[in-house]
Amino acid sequence: MVSRVVFGRGSFNQLGDIIEPKRLNVKAPFIYLVDDVFKGNAELTSRISLAYEDHILFISADTEPTTSQVDDLVEQIILNYKDRPSGIIGIGGGTLLDLAKAVAIMLTNEGVSKDYQGWDLVKSPAIYHVGVPTISGTGAEVSRTTVLTGPERKLGINSDYTPFDQVILDPELTKDVPKDQWFYTGMDCFIHCVESLKGTYLNAFSQSYGEKAFDLCKEIFIEDKGTKEELQDKLMMASWHGGMSIAYSQVGVAHALSYGLGYLLGTKHGIGNCIVFDQLEEFYPEGVALFKEMKKIHNITLPKGICAHLADDEFNTMIDVALGLEPLWENAVGKNWRQTITREKLRTLYEKM
Ligand code: NAD
Ligand code: ZN
Repeated sequence: MVSRVVFGRGSFNQLGDIIEPKRLNVKAPFIYLVDDVFKGNAELTSRISLAYEDHILFISADTEPTTSQVDDLVEQIILNYKDRPSGIIGIGGGTLLDLAKAVAIMLTNEGVSKDYQGWDLVKSPAIYHVGVPTISGTGAEVSRTTVLTGPERKLGINSDYTPFDQVILDPELTKDVPKDQWFYTGMDCFIHCVESLKGTYLNAFSQSYGEKAFDLCKEIFIEDKGTKEELQDKLMMASWHGGMSIAYSQVGVAHALSYGLGYLLGTKHGIGNCIVFDQLEEFYPEGVALFKEMKKIHNITLPKGICAHLADDEFNTMIDVALGLEPLWENAVGKNWRQTITREKLRTLYEKM
């Protein structure tokens, strides 16, 4: 779990004070990985106080993190500084948070990041790493994974060393998120709850967090219960609770299929989950009905026909990626999932998207 967290509007101002005691020496910088949507945004960047060799790297979130991107960043940091950094601070959405986690791990572990995709393969503790979400929903701020697209698969580095040492939850940072993106990333949280609560891995720990997040999502996306600021606060906490819920259970069908879309077509996680979830009545009837209602309330039109022109081998690639995520299927359908989850079934589902 994340060991330290602060929550509150404006709490981003405390970042400098919080991390300073973690400075190892003047040659060991803090490296900030910041979503480049904030480049030139003085409201945010002026509040980052740089000392000694500290440095901000602006990184685009247009594409999701890849293993080679992580390896390049690590190499750049090792070459540019005399000492290993004092800490890595990720500021942005799931993309930047995952990059920060992965870079922190790979600065202390040998080899390349693709070798650590999977469960519990990381050997040495990561360097100190801090997460500051600027958009809510993925739960990446709280989870024990960092999802990377590698040469062979899209899969997380899941380990006890992955979670942040410190998280700063400042809902004010989310105020300029565009409406569509707010919906897609918010729905990631809603889908985490549905997949966790309807899964066979469910237990009291996951259920207690999942139910809270699910109720918050309904307050936000259906009942519109609260001021603009209150809704931002609620979504940030829904994201946290949704992430906590899946930390002790698993996601399910939407995520398995969405990873296939992401791997082949580069479809981003939030919108990809929405495109898939829209077709999953069979697995999650109530959740999908609520989702369609939310879509309607917020006037969201999802892309259609994204698989229409794919060739057989492309469908097969997506199906391979999806079927490779065994724990997700086992959670969603049960131990005997192979009896019903056939390649033909997945092909039919993908064809509907
Ligand atoms: P994102 O980080 O990709 O950002 C989406 C868009 O929103 C980008 O264009 C970004 O620039 C913009 N944005 C972010 N904050 C903004 C702000 N305050 N104002 C204006 N624009 C802003 O989106 P995401 O949905 O948060 O993250 C998706 C990624 O998270 C995927 O790579 C996915 O694999 C990963 N993910 C990880 C976990 C995990 O547990 N580690 C869980 C779910 C998803
Ligand atoms: Zn997700």
